[in-house]
Amino acid sequence: MKYDFAPACALVQASQNILIAGHVSPDGDTLGSALGLALALRSIGKQVTVAFQDEPPQHLRFLPGADKIFRPDQLSQQPDLLILVDCATLERTGDGWIEAYLPQVPLLIFDHHALRDEIPAVSLIDPHLAATAELIYWFLQAIEVPLDLDIARCLYTAICTDTGGFRFTNTKVHTLQIAAELLAQGINLEEMRIQLFESRSMGHIKLLGLCLSNLQKTVDNKLVWCGLDAATKKLHNALPEDIDGIAAATMQLEGVKIGMFFDERAEQGVVKVSMRGRDGYNVGKLAAEFGGGGHYAASGCTIPGTLAEVQPKVLAAGKRLLAEMEARI
Ligand code: AMP
Ligand code: MN
Ligand code: MN
Repeated sequence: MKYDFAPACALVQASQNILIAGHVSPDGDTLGSALGLALALRSIGKQVTVAFQDEPPQHLRFLPGADKIFRPDQLSQQPDLLILVDCATLERTGDGWIEAYLPQVPLLIFDHHALRDEIPAVSLIDPHLAATAELIYWFLQAIEVPLDLDIARCLYTAICTDTGGFRFTNTKVHTLQIAAELLAQGINLEEMRIQLFESRSMGHIKLLGLCLSNLQKTVDNKLVWCGLDAATKKLHNALPEDIDGIAAATMQLEGVKIGMFFDERAEQGVVKVSMRGRDGYNVGKLAAEFGGGGHYAASGCTIPGTLAEVQPKVLAAGKRLLAEMEARI
């Protein structure tokens, strides 16, 4: 195996009380990686607590252990090891709660983001991987914890969601080999598909419809975007989980190269921008220009201001990236 898991194995073996945390607005990868790892480490006698600042979205609450996730303010015990999964920066864990443990508590990081902060830690990071859960899968082999059905369901969820159902180009031969091993534990694919892709709230369906019917684009279709302003969200009582996943809809139009979704969060005075890009269009770099991050093909940033203020600036940057790429052809 190309990773050196020895320092991570040694850290885990030397610890008894382990805290695992992931990123805000948790997705399938951060939740599946955290919960799968927690199950595995409990099976070898470790005391493991999983904590996230935000609640899991409704469609991921079926994950084993999702009902036992702690919020930062519910934690009392000091862990002897902190593990972060799928977080490119400490900031991604939330509003400063994680820093309280550092540097006294040793830190172990599993991640697959290319653009990231330097954090002093034992780190297993590979930006070529589709999901953090691929690293967790190999780590479990290294530490000799056998898979079981519940661990498999967690890791499969993580990989399936971060590859868009094994459709994105981050899906590699090893990704499918890992998925096959996970399936072999007895995963019910029908249940999985329904949970992950066909269990959205009525609110989500309505907002998605609204966004699709108000989709905007440049004349050549190359830049496609839609936005939800605070008043519209209020009118529809939109929950954060209703909004999750709308960004993907911007990438369905023929000829699109860059998709953007703008979510006005008036309570915080910010706009959350989700970006998606086709091959050759590095939206990770684009989001980083605005203080965000992510991956080459899927990224995000959170920008202070109203929708009316933020959207034109980000669209202008998107158009600049399109023009740069045109100039190269
Ligand atoms: P999303 O658009 O929220 O689905 O996020 C797509 C990707 O961008 C995720 O994998 C995150 O790694 C990254 N990302 C989203 N929002 C932010 C942010 N505010 N700061 C840094 N990275 C982000
Ligand atoms: Mn994630
Ligand atoms: Mn991920």
